[in-house]
Amino acid sequence: MHAQVHAARPDVVAVAHCHSVHGRALAALGELIDPITQESCAFYEDMALYDAYTGVAVDAEEGRRIAAALGSRKALVLRNHGPLTVGESVDAAAWWFLSMERSSQVQLTARAAGRPVLIEHKAAVATREQLGGDLVAWINYQPLWQDISRSEPDLLS
Ligand SMILES: [Zn+2]
Repeated sequence: MHAQVHAARPDVVAVAHCHSVHGRALAALGELIDPITQESCAFYEDMALYDAYTGVAVDAEEGRRIAAALGSRKALVLRNHGPLTVGESVDAAAWWFLSMERSSQVQLTARAAGRPVLIEHKAAVATREQLGGDLVAWINYQPLWQDISRSEPDLLS
């Protein structure tokens, strides 16, 4: 899966994917992140659903279908599987993954409590243009990276 995304997206330096709890819950519903908060707007019209599940994704053809579903976007929901994000840096891919996980949690929490109000299209696009770029993601990730590298100095040795 990772190899096929890299083959299809030469602009991508990193692919982030793991089976996080809230991302899997969204994947179980086969849903995308709705534009219901400032942060979730970063994914507005910049994510897709891979609307299939055929078992553990290990063969190249499945990877090619997943890469095709991602297209030029930054994030993908793999139905019944979990979230996947990409970035022009490891930092950006990791930040989008964390942001997608948190946005999934907010969406599921808000819906459990009531009916979330959607941000209108024009405002969602404007917010995505302001917050949805990989430089912003890189900047947002730096405090986390500083914490990680301080608390685990032997991480990369
Ligand atoms: Zn997986």
